[in-house]
Amino acid sequence: MGLSPRGREVLLQGGVVLGLDLEPHLPAFSRLYQLLMEANRRHNLTALRTEEEVVVKHFLDSLTLLTLPLFEGPVRVLDLGTGAGFPGLPLKIVRPELEVTLLDATQKKVAFVAEAVEALGLKGAYPLWGRAEELAHRPEHREAYARVVARAVASLCVLAEIGLPFAALGGAMVAQKGPRVEEELSRLPQALPLLGGRHQATHTLKLPFAGEVRTLVVLAKESPTPARFPRRPGVPQKHPLC
Ligand code: SAH
Repeated sequence: MGLSPRGREVLLQGGVVLGLDLEPHLPAFSRLYQLLMEANRRHNLTALRTEEEVVVKHFLDSLTLLTLPLFEGPVRVLDLGTGAGFPGLPLKIVRPELEVTLLDATQKKVAFVAEAVEALGLKGAYPLWGRAEELAHRPEHREAYARVVARAVASLCVLAEIGLPFAALGGAMVAQKGPRVEEELSRLPQALPLLGGRHQATHTLKLPFAGEVRTLVVLAKESPTPARFPRRPGVPQKHPLC
């Protein structure tokens, strides 16, 4: 079963709050919802259970990125730690011209994302299985993405180390965080200069319906990241730069 009339209404109204017309995309989101629910019965893919939770906390929360003027035109986006495809899949549905790579370290999650890409007929969406710490050293991925996005993956310090190496010069990384970012932000200046990054902006917004506060932290990629970063898998998390 796809989205109910109530689920569609929540998605549409939430879209309006974010400045988006989601009407043309209802069939895709309905299908994605159905796929998620089916996959969840097989194995735990997402903790969210009710329809409204999925619509608000997965779909709309992912789309809060589109309140920033960073996702227009055919730019390459890396979704680092995409899990079941968030924020990458909603982004790709609403902005089909984006080229979106969906990276995760867990094979079953990447398998689900690949299934969804196929079922939704998305062109220019590339599921990718691996660890960021390893893939960031491959020439085809290094500084190859105009945008790097990550939701609920790691602290800002860790994200900066594993994410900024993927960002092209002049590009940006956007971390989707909850309400409390002050402490993480305050430590960031210790790490960013080492990685070629700069804190550009922090945007605060409220999630439609849920009313919960979300923060979008934008890091600009100003100079190349030295080849020693990211460090080996697990090291950025165990011994964060800041
Ligand atoms: N972004 C999704 C999933 C968040 S859970 C969402 O918001 O719903 C965090 C995900 O990041 C997990 O699926 C985990 O496998 C992945 N992840 C964490 N560290 C990673 C790394 N170093 N490389 C690749 N994936 C990573």
